[in-house]
Amino acid sequence: MPVELKGNIVVTGANRGIGLELVKQLAETTGEEAHIYACSREPEGSRTEALRQLTTRHPGKITIIKLDTTNEESISAAVQAVQDQIGDGGLNLLINNAAIRKPASSGALFATKKNDMMEVYETNVVGPFTIAKMFLPLLKKAAQRDSPAKGSDNKTACSSAIINISTAFSSIEKCPETFSAAQMYPYRISKAALNMLTRCQAEDFKTHNIVVTAIHPGWVQTEMGGEKAPLTTMDSVLGMLSVISSLSNKDSGMLLDWQGNTIPW
Ligand code: NDP
Repeated sequence: MPVELKGNIVVTGANRGIGLELVKQLAETTGEEAHIYACSREPEGSRTEALRQLTTRHPGKITIIKLDTTNEESISAAVQAVQDQIGDGGLNLLINNAAIRKPASSGALFATKKNDMMEVYETNVVGPFTIAKMFLPLLKKAAQRDSPAKGSDNKTACSSAIINISTAFSSIEKCPETFSAAQMYPYRISKAALNMLTRCQAEDFKTHNIVVTAIHPGWVQTEMGGEKAPLTTMDSVLGMLSVISSLSNKDSGMLLDWQGNTIPW
């Protein structure tokens, strides 16, 4: 049985770009019982206006949660806020989407400072690591509660999943093809580490029946992707949600693109 888009869903970096579109499409397509926890580091700020508007268009469906991926206390408070609202329920889907790409220029060797390396690693790797660790009890609860009973014919069922939004630029094998177009030292290295995190947690959480998969959203028109990107957030997210809803245990620890193709490590 594939990962179902149901139950309680957390999306980080949900106030703009791909994260906002993920929340929009999840709100439109999931059933009544589903609830989306849309995380933003500044829920009251002007950069979260579009998410606040989306929330009012879907009453009772979306809760905005304050979460800064670089701040452990903020993550802990976010987990508590989700836990308080779901009560006995578990977390079915965690989408680690929030990320940064620094410096704003090409990220070439001499344009990149130590601080850029550290900041990007902290946001793009330590953030998802800590978030998954802290949400694990809730993910386990959903995996245990909603999976078919022991002895059922359905051996591959998975009711909880972590999706790490990665990039094709993280692929070590493809680096010779992609490096000259976009050097991006801090970003590429951070996403390659995110892939390893995906692989490690896929192994670690196998016994809990939690699927962990990395997905490349394509080159998408957002602040990060820029105007020249060929894909709209709508098409990227349509593709990714279709891929997520067809994932099963065999896809755990893989890097896929928004169309479901495997990208080599
Ligand atoms: P954007 O830059 O448009 O949005 C990034 C989001 O992450 C914003 O909501 C931002 O919030 C949030 N964020 C950044 N830092 C933090 C933090 N410390 N705590 C909480 N939230 C934070 O990026 P995209 O929407 O384009 O990217 C989404 C994901 O897709 C990323 O993981 C990115 O690496 C990946 N990706 C994107 C591609 C593209 O072409 N766009 C290509 C390949 C991968 P705030 O408004 O507060 O800054």
